[in-house]
This record gives sequence, structure tokens and C-alpha cells, in this order.
Amino acid sequence: MKAEIVAVGTELLLGQIVNTNAQFISKECAAIGVDMYFQTVVGDNEQRLLDTFRLAASRADVVICTGGLGPTQDDLTKDVLAAFVGRELVLHEPSMKTITELFESRGIHMVESNRRQALMIEGSDPLHNETGLAVGNAFTYEGTHFILLPGPPKEMKPMFTKYAVPWLQAVMTDAVPLYSKMLKFAGIGESNLEHQLLDLIEAQTDPTIAPYAKEGEVTIRLTTRAQSQEEGEKRLFPTEQAIRVRLADHLYADQDVPIENVVLQLLEQKQLTLSVAESCSGGLLSDLLTDVPGSSKSFLGGIVCYSNALKHKLLGVPMEILEGDGAPGAVSSETAVLLAENLIATTGSDFGISITGVAGPSPSEGKPVGLVYVGFAQRNAETAVFTLQLSGNRESVKHRAAKSALYQLWK
Ligand code: ATP
Ligand code: MG
Repeated sequence: MKAEIVAVGTELLLGQIVNTNAQFISKECAAIGVDMYFQTVVGDNEQRLLDTFRLAASRADVVICTGGLGPTQDDLTKDVLAAFVGRELVLHEPSMKTITELFESRGIHMVESNRRQALMIEGSDPLHNETGLAVGNAFTYEGTHFILLPGPPKEMKPMFTKYAVPWLQAVMTDAVPLYSKMLKFAGIGESNLEHQLLDLIEAQTDPTIAPYAKEGEVTIRLTTRAQSQEEGEKRLFPTEQAIRVRLADHLYADQDVPIENVVLQLLEQKQLTLSVAESCSGGLLSDLLTDVPGSSKSFLGGIVCYSNALKHKLLGVPMEILEGDGAPGAVSSETAVLLAENLIATTGSDFGISITGVAGPSPSEGKPVGLVYVGFAQRNAETAVFTLQLSGNRESVKHRAAKSALYQLWK
């Protein structure tokens, strides 16, 4: 079932309002197994509207139209569509009654144009409007299902959910709902991940494999069609297994959760605690961790030691290491190690993570933007350091550094 949304309104084309109707309808359609192929926006113009309906009818099985059902001269949708399908506009008596009663109760004189909101395309099913006056329409013409809804979201949304969806489901015989699953990865970039799955991605038909990246995490959405979760899982299984085998070191969840949630869950299960010392990430790691409800069970806290003076004063990194000729510098594995080790000595946590690097936009200590050291100290174990060369602007480097640190902890 291929669908097209036709959003009518010159104000949409002018950028005065955002086409939130299309977003809402697309999501609802995906949930009931109607595939959205096109979203069209057209102004309040008779000829262009007619052309739009002609094109939509030629390429879609369902055409869902919003806007232009009001009483004014620029509300043309019904007239143009009626002309296109060669049908008359007829009065929908119950809607007319509602409109008349409303005007009477308010003591306002009703003008002829208000009648327009009670008009329906001949032979169509009315879609009741409980929050406004214009009646919606649904009908099938030469195999294409048309649904007409008013523009105001507060009218359109309830009408769509309550009346248009059941109408669509009744005319749909073959549509099966979409079933999606998110796989989440850390410690790997989007292009590297894609590269490792290239053959699968190129050969994909069902399920589809859609990778995308956001703030230091990569997500793969697997999508198939299924009537139940069980059937969906079964259909996804072979592809999911293939991905799991190849990217086991990076796959941290099979649902859409950030890595900090998973890390905190693991720490809580093992009854272990964490504290962090942050330089270039400026407290972002602590922020991510404390966004998770219940994080206080495992996260003791963080120190933002941005200046060398604080690295020295609060966490005892010798000034000779931080500054001076031939010194390793604040951005160095030496500093990362000392920060992490002194941190657990100070806070008493089981794990200590330090982040020190160059967030940019310009190099520091002669070191390139994106160079970040993550120190990882653990009670009774040797401290590890991870050297990262991260890409992106200041904000991305901070984000990627924080997420990479979480990744090391998860691993
Ligand atoms: P009315 O009876 O209010 O005139 P209508 O069905 O004729 O309703 P329009 O005139 O096209 O609809 O739009 C009315 C208002 O609805 C717009 O000013 C805008 O606020 C909102 N609207 C219209 N289309 C959209 C859309 N695609 N997305 C979000 N809002 C919309
Ligand atoms: Mg209008």
C-alpha cells in the first residue's frame, strides 16, 4: 500500500507554518503498515492542486490530504478534488445541523460560505470532526483511496486516529505493519560500521538495514513486516545474528538506550562505583551519567579539572608533568593515568575515568584538535590509557570523548 500526503496551503510553502501534519500522519501510517512514498506540499491554487491530485493518483494507492476544507475562498481542496474525480459536492446533513446550531447558539448570523464546511464529495464516507466544523471525506476512485482532512492539527489528528485509520484498515487487505528493532553501537564510527556490513547493506531487501549516527553513538534500525512481535523477531533473526557476530565488540544494546544507561546498570548489578575526572569534556560525562535516574547508586561524582592548576591541586598531577619544556603536558597519557589513579585514591570509587584532550577549535600544546586521552583506573589492577583521534567540532569532540570513555567502561 503506497501512500502520499498532500498538504495544501500557501502558508506551508512560504515557511510560515511547519508541515507537522505530514509528520504525524507518516508516523501513524508506518504503525499500521501503510508505506509513505511521497509527501507533497502545494499552495492554494486550483491548477496546481489539480495537477497534484492527478500525479498523486497515478503513483499512490492512498492519498491523504490535509488543509483547505474551511469556509473561505482559498479553501479549494474539496472543489478541485470533486472536479478531478467527476463527482458533485453534496450537503452532509448532520454536519450542516451542527454548524447551524453552533451559529444559532452564539447568536451569530451564518453566511453562505459556512455551508461549504458541510459539503462532501458525492459517494464519500464522512469523517466526523469533533473539534471543528469541516467534515472530512474518504472515498475510493479508480483504485485510489482518498482521505480529506482539515488543516488545523487539533482537528486533523483526532479525526485521523479515530476515523481515518479504521477506514483505511477496512479498505486495506494486504498491508502488514512494520516491525523495527534498534541495535546500538559504541566505540565505532558510522562509516567504519557501514564498511563492516557493506555486503549485508547492499544485499538488503527484507529486513532493511538503516544505520545512522548521533552524538558518539551509532544506531542500526532493522525493519521488516510482521503481524506480531514474535513473527517480527523471527524475520529479523538471521540478519541480526550476522550483525551481532561481526560487531560483538561494539553492540551494547538491542533497544534504543544510550550507553550510559547500560553502563550504570552493569555497575549496579556488580555493586561497583565510578567517579570521573574531566578536563576537555567539561563535565559532560557527569551530565550524561546523572541524566539516568538512579545513577547515584553507582556514580559517586566528578571533578571538572579544566585548568592545570586544578589538575595539580585537586588531583595531585605534578606541575612538571603538566607544563614546561619537554613536559608531557596536560594532554598526555601520563596526565590521564595520574588523574584516573589519584581520582580513585581521592574518591574511593572502584573505577576512575579521566578525560583530557584538545576539543578545539585550535590546537593546544602543539597537539591536534580531537586528540583525547582516556585514563581508566581500577582498584587492584593496572591503569589503562586509550588514545583517541576524534573528528568534528568542539561539541562533537566533547560528546565523542564522553561516549568513548563510557564505551571503555562497558567493554
Ligand atoms: P480552516 O477551517 O481553519 O481554514 P482548513 O482545513 O481550511 O481549516 P487551512 O486553511 O489550510 O485548513 O489551514 C488552517 C490552519 O491549520 C493553518 O493556518 C495552520 O495553522 C494549520 N495547518 C494547515 N496545514 C497544516 C500542516 N500541514 N501542518 C501543520 N499545521 C497546518
Ligand atoms: Mg482554511
